[in-house]
Amino acid sequence: MKTTSSRTTNPQDLADLDSLLTAEEKAVREAVRQVCDDAVEPSIAQWYESGELPAARELAREFGKVGLLGMHLEGYGCAGMSAVDYGLACLELEASDSGIRSLVSVQGSLAMFAIWRWGSEEQKTEWLPQLATGEAIGCFGLTEPDFGSDPGSMRTTARRDGGDWVLDGAKMWITNGSIADVAVVWANAGEENGGIRGFVVPTSVPGFSAPKIKHKMSLRASITSELVLEGVRLPGSAILPEVRGLKGPLSCLNEARYGIVWGALGAGRSAFEAARRYSMEREQFGRPIAGFQLTQAKLANMAVELINGQLLALHLGRRKDEVGLRPDQVSLGKYNNVTKALEICRTARTILGANGISGEFPVMRHANNLESVLTYEGTVEMHTLMIGQALTGIPAYR
Ligand SMILES: Cc1cc2nc3c(=O)[nH]c(=O)nc-3n(C[C@H](O)[C@H](O)[C@H](O)COP(=O)(O)OP(=O)(O)OC[C@H]3O[C@@H](n4cnc5c(N)ncnc54)[C@H](O)[C@@H]3O)c2cc1C
Repeated sequence: MKTTSSRTTNPQDLADLDSLLTAEEKAVREAVRQVCDDAVEPSIAQWYESGELPAARELAREFGKVGLLGMHLEGYGCAGMSAVDYGLACLELEASDSGIRSLVSVQGSLAMFAIWRWGSEEQKTEWLPQLATGEAIGCFGLTEPDFGSDPGSMRTTARRDGGDWVLDGAKMWITNGSIADVAVVWANAGEENGGIRGFVVPTSVPGFSAPKIKHKMSLRASITSELVLEGVRLPGSAILPEVRGLKGPLSCLNEARYGIVWGALGAGRSAFEAARRYSMEREQFGRPIAGFQLTQAKLANMAVELINGQLLALHLGRRKDEVGLRPDQVSLGKYNNVTKALEICRTARTILGANGISGEFPVMRHANNLESVLTYEGTVEMHTLMIGQALTGIPAYR
């Protein structure tokens, strides 16, 4: 046993967590960091401020080139990487911006995963290869104007008409909606048809429209839309044949939530780093503010929470690769890592003082983004209830 180490301190990795990763995993992380540095970092502050993502398609193709889209899926042009690789990628993407990670998560974990896991061979061969390269963009419509946490009560219907299906209803808060080529839409097909069913909807079909939601104060560098379905007629082959009921959408959400367990830490890391650097340059009362105990307490707490969060994410990732995760384990990770990352961003903002609210620094952007991340893919309250149910055996949702 060695009692001390002569190695130097790395403030970005105080606990030497890098030693837990393989060389291949570090290479994946580097590749994603590089594409973010090249394609996202130079423009992200401006996209956020203008509330636009003009480069969404270009970005999707760039991400497709490095195998980021549906990277944890196998076959059909997908990279077939591990859950840990996928997690590391989400962390790097979200270190740039939660909206950019959302673009990738929705494409890979929601739209592509739904088709990959529950689709027909025909649906897989038609859509997965073009979604993997980023030639096509996908979205996932579950939430409705009146039903978010309680998707089982959804009003969107799918009705049989001869051999066709006809969809009517509206979806709300759908990431990538207005730019998507294909939407995976969940609708109530009636008890006789298996209840809630998934449909693969090419967005060019008559009766489908996707107006953009404006005035967002969070996740501004991400396209969020309403989906309107007015008598959308689809062939019988448009239904996802392999799943019935809420299990379908929930299985997809579980995949995306797992990515968030890692991703949120990226936002936290960027805010922490901005605050750490700033605290060493900014002087008040004749010394750097980093020299005050109150600032050091904030930095120490942030660093510890980032380390704890990464250990939890990595543990869950290794378990996912080995045996898979239960939904309550994913809830543990999302609950902890998103709430802690948000606290880190808010604390980082205080260290920057007035500069903390400026778009010249990334801190407020990350904090605002994490407000969405706290709510989507299951609100923090829903994940609390899932953990509560796992602990007590008593569901407390209604
Ligand atoms: C930027 C953004 C992007 C999104 N992208 C997508 C997407 O691509 N696809 C998609 O389908 N959806 C998407 N969503 C929707 C998101 O998943 C929902 O907003 C989320 O599920 C919460 O639903 P809601 O907003 O209707 O809130 P509600 O369900 O109305 O909840 C409001 C509040 O009540 C609480 N609450 C509800 N029920 C209970 C209960 N039983 N016990 C205690 N508290 C409760 C909630 O926790 C919350 O605090 C996105 C949302 C945002 C903000």
